Amino acid sequence: MIPIAKPVLGDAEADAACEVVLSGWLTQGPQVAAFEQAFAAATGAAHACAVSNCTTALHLALLAVGVGAGDEVIVPSHSFVATANAVRYCGAEPVFVDIEPDSFNLDPDLVADSIGPRTRAILCVHQMGMPCDLPRLGALARERGIALIEDAACAAGSEIQIGGDWQRIGRPHGDIACFSFHPRKVITTGDGGMIVTNNPDWDQRFRLWRQHGMSISDVARHGAPEVVFESYPVLGYNYRMTDVQAAIGRKQLERLAEIVRQRRALAAAYHRMLAEVPGLVVPTEPAWARSNWQSYCVRLPDGLDQREVMQTLLDQGIATRRGIVCAHREAPYAQTPQRLGLTESERAQDRCILLPLYAQLEASDQQRVVEALAAVCKREVLPWI
Ligand SMILES: *Cc1c(COP(=O)(O)O)cnc(C)c1O
Repeated sequence: MIPIAKPVLGDAEADAACEVVLSGWLTQGPQVAAFEQAFAAATGAAHACAVSNCTTALHLALLAVGVGAGDEVIVPSHSFVATANAVRYCGAEPVFVDIEPDSFNLDPDLVADSIGPRTRAILCVHQMGMPCDLPRLGALARERGIALIEDAACAAGSEIQIGGDWQRIGRPHGDIACFSFHPRKVITTGDGGMIVTNNPDWDQRFRLWRQHGMSISDVARHGAPEVVFESYPVLGYNYRMTDVQAAIGRKQLERLAEIVRQRRALAAAYHRMLAEVPGLVVPTEPAWARSNWQSYCVRLPDGLDQREVMQTLLDQGIATRRGIVCAHREAPYAQTPQRLGLTESERAQDRCILLPLYAQLEASDQQRVVEALAAVCKREVLPWI
């Protein structure tokens, strides 16, 4: 069986987790602080705050920029449902904007047309690791006086060229960027998330919110020579990351560059081998972007049934996934008004499939995926061959 994804985990992570268990300090302590420092250094952000997952990261990011009841936030419908859910957690409503068919990311022209008097923020997504057009979205947000938050759940290790300079996603280029360490992403802590910003006030607020709104951290109280009483000045949450997760995350971060290098080589091999398949469309990377290829998404030739293709491959021991599921087609968002249509989002969900891609994917297995997919496509598009 060739799976769709596989995390890169080894003795380094197992030993690090074991050490934390034996240390006796299991949640949000010294390992979390060290992971945050390493992550900030890796992205070039001034502040990084670890949380329980990317969904809670998005919730706190939206709260920090003031999103609340009655507000609107621009988001792609073509994203994991958590992107829209985080908007609802704040009492606000998502405004779904369509994507560009090539990058699967928000179309900046449509974003510009969708900003209204109640729009408080743009929540853009670097879908499947492909950087979205941050310079244009950033200029738009500044011009209209609204916030730009990056859902960088999939984008650890992706890069964008700004003024001739290659920079990692998460510097951040918007006001705040949020990452996920779910096992389906490029590096993992089991579950886990990170919020990066250059705004020290927001970073302080994230730290308060993630720990029940408690005024003093456990580390500070534990190390204090005098008795200290904590207070709870704001409504908080329990969005902590554990030290076990953070210790694993530190080891994963050390592997990030190599994992991304391997994924890029595999994506390049897919491009090369699949270019010959009639009717199949391989993903494209803008000249100013370098994806980490968290997912490799191909568009099927017209006339091919998505489910049948996936089943044919599964019968041969090859796992695939359908295109990203659009939020507006799911029950919680069925009543959300659609202003400009979501044709490309729906087409991407219905006409694309994701192929297996993980750092350990063997060349022979990748060849098998290509041959199986090419065989289904040829049978349908050129039945006389
Ligand atoms: C995975 C993902 C999330 C959610 O991340 P969790 O860490 O599982 O909460 C949010 N947005 C996007 C685009 C994702 O791919």
